[in-house]
Amino acid sequence: MWRVAQASGGTVILRIEDHDRQRCRPGFEVALLDDLEELGFVPDEPLIASLRAGAPSSYRQQDNGAVYAATAAELDGRDLVYACDCSRSTFAAWTAARGQPWSGPGCPGGCAGRGLARDAADVAWRVMLGDGIESWADLALGSQSGMPSRTGDLAIRDRRGNWTYGFCVVVDDMRHGIDLVIRGEDLLEATPAQIRLGRLLGRAVPPRFLHHPLVRRPDGRKLSKADGATGVRDMPGSGEPAEELLARAATAIGLPVLAAE
Ligand SMILES: [Zn+2]
Repeated sequence: MWRVAQASGGTVILRIEDHDRQRCRPGFEVALLDDLEELGFVPDEPLIASLRAGAPSSYRQQDNGAVYAATAAELDGRDLVYACDCSRSTFAAWTAARGQPWSGPGCPGGCAGRGLARDAADVAWRVMLGDGIESWADLALGSQSGMPSRTGDLAIRDRRGNWTYGFCVVVDDMRHGIDLVIRGEDLLEATPAQIRLGRLLGRAVPPRFLHHPLVRRPDGRKLSKADGATGVRDMPGSGEPAEELLARAATAIGLPVLAAE
């Protein structure tokens, strides 16, 4: 990722995506910074030392709630935001009744037309993404397309009041001028909604995307925090030199191993 960005003349920005206040702990950020420094990854922005010092940063999502609130208010001012009380069981009940999963735009409960109060307990805020499809030329996977609201209009705030990943990253990519997004294939399905939300916010030209395979457990499952595998240092054989560890991780996901400059 660093070398792709550098080879294309870009800068690498480190963003702390701690939008979920219930799941994120201060120790996670320290562990992440430790991992990056140990592996020799130094972002162009921001300074690691300033993050470690705890200074408020444009690149730490928990420090930017006002930005997300202002963006949500702007969308709301255009009547694009609605409260939704659909839960997983609402979607499951739809599937059980009709023998096929619900498909957007909207949500299975038709909440856009119900006028639910935003400040009611247990409601998410969704943004109307509209219909149609979004297409892009993925730098790894080639031509891709999908419905932005196939699994429902994008939730921008979850039922516990957190701004969501899918909302924050689009807002941040715009204000930070991100034009190349390199990430795992597990986020492929989120891409059409993110492109569409960017368009709603005035971004006519989406970033370029490169979705790469994931490093998986030996049984094929994703590494996950629930398994205690939170970083590269949890890979088997951790303790070996950083360059060898990275080469092995790259090989595991089918990326070419580039020699260090
Ligand atoms: Zn709903």
